[in-house]
Amino acid sequence: MVISWSFLRAFEKCPLQQKLIRIDKVVPEKVDERRFIAGAVGHRFFEIWASRGFDDQITPKTVERILYIISKRKYIVWRDKSDYEKVKEKVIKEASMIVETVHQHGIDKINNIQVEKLFFKSLPGNEHSVAGKLDMVVDSGAWLLEMKMSADPQWQNPDQLIFYGLLLGAILRRYPERLTFFLPVMPNVEDRLIDIEFSKNDFLAMYDRIKNLIETWNKRDFPPASDPEACHFCGVKEYCIFI
Ligand code: SF4
Repeated sequence: MVISWSFLRAFEKCPLQQKLIRIDKVVPEKVDERRFIAGAVGHRFFEIWASRGFDDQITPKTVERILYIISKRKYIVWRDKSDYEKVKEKVIKEASMIVETVHQHGIDKINNIQVEKLFFKSLPGNEHSVAGKLDMVVDSGAWLLEMKMSADPQWQNPDQLIFYGLLLGAILRRYPERLTFFLPVMPNVEDRLIDIEFSKNDFLAMYDRIKNLIETWNKRDFPPASDPEACHFCGVKEYCIFI
């Protein structure tokens, strides 16, 4: 079993839902991808720009092209032309906010930056592993940044950074020194890097959560969500006998 941050979080919300998806192979209801496309374009834009060494060649046309390619890949159907145009305007504006943030916070001056990097660590026994795609890794794991294309604090869960820090720490055999949310769409450019506070105990607590997931999974113990909120956006609720 491969344990990612999203799997851990989903399992803790509702073990039954993950059992329906991963064991019973129920296919979740398709979400409206238009809701997520701006975030996907922002991430891809940053990845391409960083891979080119933050050069000046990137233009609104580049952003438009990324939007077009991702829309095709995700089979997004636009309601009408204005629907597409609205999103196009948004992604171009957000790309310019990324550019401003990168320059303002000196991200473009960093030499050893890895972007959108997939990390993977087998757990003892090799039966399970932990994996994660890290948005930015600086100084060989001394500093991790997670990019969020939303100013909504509900997406800034420090545990996500702790999870990635634990993963990288397990691979490199040392914990990161700095964990940061990179938030290019915050209104004030000064607020676009937010460091989180953490200690070694946070990594140990995260490791306990991963161990708990494995133990619960192995016991085949799959209770339904205790919080009815979780059922609201559940993609497999039509297969669930508890609602
Ligand atoms: S509807 Fe609720 S209880 Fe049922 S699987 Fe989904 S989240 Fe779990």
